[in-house]
Amino acid sequence: MSRPISALTIAGSDSGGGAGIQADLKTFAAHGVHGLSAIAALTAQHTRGVTAVHVPPVAFLRAQVDACFEDFDIGAVKLGMLASAEVIHAVADALQAHRPPHVVLDPVMVATSGARLLEADALDALRTRLLPMATVLTPNTPEAELLLGRKITDGAAADEAAQALRALGAGSVLLKGGHLDEGDRVVDRYADATTSTRWQQPRMDVDGHGTGCTLASAIAANLCLGHSPVDACAAAIAYVHDALLRGYAPGRGAVRVLDHF
Ligand code: PLP
Repeated sequence: MSRPISALTIAGSDSGGGAGIQADLKTFAAHGVHGLSAIAALTAQHTRGVTAVHVPPVAFLRAQVDACFEDFDIGAVKLGMLASAEVIHAVADALQAHRPPHVVLDPVMVATSGARLLEADALDALRTRLLPMATVLTPNTPEAELLLGRKITDGAAADEAAQALRALGAGSVLLKGGHLDEGDRVVDRYADATTSTRWQQPRMDVDGHGTGCTLASAIAANLCLGHSPVDACAAAIAYVHDALLRGYAPGRGAVRVLDHF
């Protein structure tokens, strides 16, 4: 019997179970894809915020990544919270050594709660080392602004930003529109070398947690299943929308986590 394809997440752990590695593994499972994880950072976290962050030694992160590549057929790698420039360089070195077919880069910087998940001096390393390896880059508007060094104030600026991010070296870009005010709808913009498209949905009045992590890992799962980047993005957007509609608030905070199944 041939081995199934696995997806690997290299990201942060959320002790509250709503985002990060925990969301990624649930997403992989919901897509019928075997999930692997290399934990780049640990957060002590609940539905009201992040109370502490611990970054294990990068040699141990590399050992986790190497162990995964030594034994599994990895169809796609999802990158989430990487915490520091040192971690980013270690991940870039590991990906250069193992050359996975696809990389989905969620350039996690600041949590919705306001907690910093990437040190300020790490932006350059993210832009120069990881962005060119990405099959799909999935920034939200504030992350795209930091990567480009300019404000995105309206839909036309967002269209331009998606192209400009691709010009920095990503194979394709899914610029998430949730933070941009475009009336009662949310517009996600996609651009690759030959296609640009957008998906619109009515804005949902919910305080969701783990949506970005889930979107990126759903794209990775769909790439593992053989979908093209644009089809993987379309399927992942629909998956997150449905999972958020069914979402629930498991803690004392108002935030809702997704129902992945
Ligand atoms: N915790 C971890 C480990 C994460 O990776 C992320 C986002 O990527 C978050 C928290 C923040 O999630 P949100 O902004 O959806 O609340």
